[in-house]
Amino acid sequence: MKRISFNNIVNSIKDSVIEINCVASKELLNKYDTGIMRENNELSKKVLINLKQNAIIAKEKMIPICQDTGTAVLFLEIGTEVVIDGGFIYDAIYEGVKLGYQEGYLRKSIVDNPLSRNNTGNNLPPIIHTKLVEGDTLSIVLLAKGAGSENMSAIKMMAPSEGINGIEKFVLETVKNAGSNPCPPITVGVGIGSNFEGVALLAKKALVKEFFEIPEDPNITKIEKDLKEKLNLLNIGPQGFGGKTSVFDVAILMEPCHIASLPVAVNINCHVIRHKKLVF
Ligand code: SF4
Repeated sequence: MKRISFNNIVNSIKDSVIEINCVASKELLNKYDTGIMRENNELSKKVLINLKQNAIIAKEKMIPICQDTGTAVLFLEIGTEVVIDGGFIYDAIYEGVKLGYQEGYLRKSIVDNPLSRNNTGNNLPPIIHTKLVEGDTLSIVLLAKGAGSENMSAIKMMAPSEGINGIEKFVLETVKNAGSNPCPPITVGVGIGSNFEGVALLAKKALVKEFFEIPEDPNITKIEKDLKEKLNLLNIGPQGFGGKTSVFDVAILMEPCHIASLPVAVNINCHVIRHKKLVF
């Protein structure tokens, strides 16, 4: 058995919430640079330069990269040989998220009820997805997910006969209809298979695919590459100003499904990529 302290989880989540909101990863800065090099539309190039500069200033001053500091979404993988000392794991996560948003002066963006809409004042509750795995490791993938991009996401229960052409058409339509709303350049997470609720989760998980040990499938890699090329021909461009850099990446996750179904979901993330994996 591995024993992990409750307070260790609280403090790690708190620090990570602040870090992902204020400190742009090297990966994100590289994506801006690649876009800046590729763009020959001067306005779009300038927008990317400004986005990069914004991220650099945020890091220097430890202020959020964007005012929408998002919903905290967490994917937990809990080893069967893990014991949390000092409390319940969900309580540790709630406490860490709360302290991170409070101590980091991050905007509190959650309302207690979708109709009466009172702000909870501490960005709680987070959205937690839990999977039990063998072993003595606890891993937590944390995302701060902005609403501008989340609102442009879509799901469709397609007929199996629509196949890959139908899937590509749906992804292209979803991104085209989204236009500048999700703050491009975007990352496009695509879920294919499972069922209605499962495919939405696959699309969200696809946005952080690199954190999971998913064997590479050359067929999927090719579809991701083709889709990225097609999406970047839509001329949406950085923040909707046109150009070649509408999409940073496309990531697909697939699962088995019913013989009569072809569920597809598209979950969009804005240019502000705010993810981190914690391993205990
Ligand atoms: S979609 Fe992203 S960049 Fe746009 S406002 Fe929301 S968090 Fe900020």
